[in-house]
Amino acid sequence: MSILVVGSVAYDTVETPSGRAERVLGGSASFFAVAASYFAPVNLVGVVGDDFGEKQLEAFRGRPIDLAGLERAAGKTFHWQGRYSQDLNSRDTIRTDLNVFEFFQPKIPAAYRHSELVFLGNIDPLLQREVLAQVEKPRVVACDTMNYWITGKPAELRETLAKVDVLLINDQEARELSGEWNLVKAARAIRRMGPETLVVKKGEHGVLLFGHESCFAAPALPLETVIDPTGAGDTFAGGFLGYLASRQDINDREMRRAIVFGSVLASFTVEKFSLDRLREITLREVQERYQDFRALTHFDDHEA
Ligand code: AMP
Repeated sequence: MSILVVGSVAYDTVETPSGRAERVLGGSASFFAVAASYFAPVNLVGVVGDDFGEKQLEAFRGRPIDLAGLERAAGKTFHWQGRYSQDLNSRDTIRTDLNVFEFFQPKIPAAYRHSELVFLGNIDPLLQREVLAQVEKPRVVACDTMNYWITGKPAELRETLAKVDVLLINDQEARELSGEWNLVKAARAIRRMGPETLVVKKGEHGVLLFGHESCFAAPALPLETVIDPTGAGDTFAGGFLGYLASRQDINDREMRRAIVFGSVLASFTVEKFSLDRLREITLREVQERYQDFRALTHFDDHEA
């Protein structure tokens, strides 16, 4: 099954305790697409400016990522600059230059309209709905959002959420969206808004999956080297949906495995700046880390 992703393709300037990366490849759609491409073909819709060169496109080449939907507009590419705290658990946005992204109107090429899975990256909820209006009944619609839209366009966001199957947000966003501090109550309230499945990302504390049948928790792999957490959430989403796209059935068991594959890919992204680590991994390394996860969470061979 193929996946359609709509989101940002960016230049990022990032400062972490390990150093600084200047105008490197970033953006939600970039991390998502490369992560998902380890499992399934990806159709990418986004916009870049005329300062976006061949060198940046190299990250997508040689992978099953279709770039017919990557529009090139006159002007500069979206640029985001962020600085992380010493413990890497929080970050400040220093500047956001929307540039060509400000006038982004997603146009879905005809060849993408039958994509079975759709990932609506973190953009205006109105634009997310316009994407859905251009595609034929996907099997799964997944969506990301952020505080900016939760507080800035709550009614638009609600309308979009009514059409979404899987929502992926962080714990703080889940609390803000639902008005509930307790995450179990927050999940119940959010699932009533539309998404049957809610994935709550908790950074270095892992992920919670709230579904129709059950709740599932996965830790983040304890890592010795964490250089730059940028894109971990989008990488997680790419691994999660990419794995689901590679399966015949999408059920509770596959959802749990998808959560672990998402976590595995995110664990690579944070080991270097930009997409540098994500781009170089092999399927064998992915499988090995999947086994590390099994070992990490295994605690009992016997029924109590
Ligand atoms: P994450 O660390 O998973 O939250 O994603 C970080 C990526 O989001 C960076 O590569 C940025 O380029 C991108 N980004 C930051 N702010 C925005 C925004 N307002 N809209 C779209 N993408 C953004």
